[in-house]
Amino acid sequence: MPLDGGIMSIQLRRTVGAGAALLFASTLSTASWAQWQAGRITTKDVSGTTSQYVEVGSTRTPAGCEYRLQLPLAWGINEVSGDRGPPRRLSSASCANPSFDFTSGRELEEQTAYYWSFVARSYAIANLWITPPGWPLGPIAVSKTGVQPNVIGGGNFATACFPIAPNADGCMRVWPHEGPKIHLEAGVLTPELVVHEYGHYAAGFAYGHMDAFGFSLPAATGDCMKLAFQEAIADMFKFLVMHDRRYAAYAGSDGFGPVAASHSARGPIACGDAYVTALPVQQAFQQALWGTDYSRKIVVNWRANPLDTTKPNDPHIANRKMANAFTYALALNRGHRIDQLAGSLVEWFDVNEPRRADAIRKIFGAHGYLVQPYGAACTAHPQCASFRCDNRPGAGCVAQDGMCPAGGFCTTHQQCRTGTCKVAAGSLRGVCTN
Ligand SMILES: [Zn+2]
Repeated sequence: MPLDGGIMSIQLRRTVGAGAALLFASTLSTASWAQWQAGRITTKDVSGTTSQYVEVGSTRTPAGCEYRLQLPLAWGINEVSGDRGPPRRLSSASCANPSFDFTSGRELEEQTAYYWSFVARSYAIANLWITPPGWPLGPIAVSKTGVQPNVIGGGNFATACFPIAPNADGCMRVWPHEGPKIHLEAGVLTPELVVHEYGHYAAGFAYGHMDAFGFSLPAATGDCMKLAFQEAIADMFKFLVMHDRRYAAYAGSDGFGPVAASHSARGPIACGDAYVTALPVQQAFQQALWGTDYSRKIVVNWRANPLDTTKPNDPHIANRKMANAFTYALALNRGHRIDQLAGSLVEWFDVNEPRRADAIRKIFGAHGYLVQPYGAACTAHPQCASFRCDNRPGAGCVAQDGMCPAGGFCTTHQQCRTGTCKVAAGSLRGVCTN
């Protein structure tokens, strides 16, 4: 484990001290909180404040029931805590549905942290922690260890999110003695912030993409590219959740109006600021999800049936397919390379959604990730969506071993899911066959 360097050891001491003294880690085991009940949560919403029903932790007491902002299930949400005092807990002699009903202040932020962690968790269970269509390599290992949200301010936030505070509004950390936590800065907490930090957990931690301790080790040691990968996947998760929420909340299409991403970033960017370095792939992902590039010249075919031109694009199809490609890319790519992540997103469309792939390829190409499908001419690996080039004259981009479906281009048996690449005599170019 690469723990050399003074910054890391300083951080270790500071955060362990803070964790014990300030962050009110819940001391009750989740085993005694094996029940949950529908409760009302007042939360900051996409616009304004709303009241929502979700499940909250519930347990029987001699006096009735007690409720907490926690969810004792797989991918659990451990009790929302902070530095304003003990977490708010409700009790009811009749075991009526609880209502966490603060409408302002730190309590509203804690309720918001819970509610949006719940929304993000529900999204991830349905769309991210799955085996996506076209995944050929067997079960995907995903951690089910829960995460704990903290709402903290001032010096406590600066300590918990060292060294990226004060520039950040939140961070995620995983220390061996306390498990995954997301720290959210009091006073500036928003739904987007909660979902972004949850994205570090859902797309990062759960898929094994965190560094040792989940501390921003790459940033501390100057590895901007690795931190850029972490930020890119957190934001891509946020885009999916908020896009899904938009259509769930408004129950319909808005004509794919918003393309919030600017068109300025283009990769690869010289690595100085990890957040800037993450922008091109984030923007390409966001534009593909919303179905058009900034200039609206490239339009993704998001119809439920790509061949049925009488129907409009379907945002739910867009969301599901982008989530499938994202999951495929998260499961396939180890080593925190956003260029490889971008390639895999395009590769998934090449193989599984060929009628949508060209527009996706163009959008990613416009952001600097111009990657070619299996069989296209190449001279070097990064030119290929698969990140694998057979550069012999007449060959081309090929799949990683075991990834190419029947009918796909191949040059060796190992590339094919079927194990057989049929190559005509005198040629390098083959087809995966059963
Ligand atoms: Zn982040």
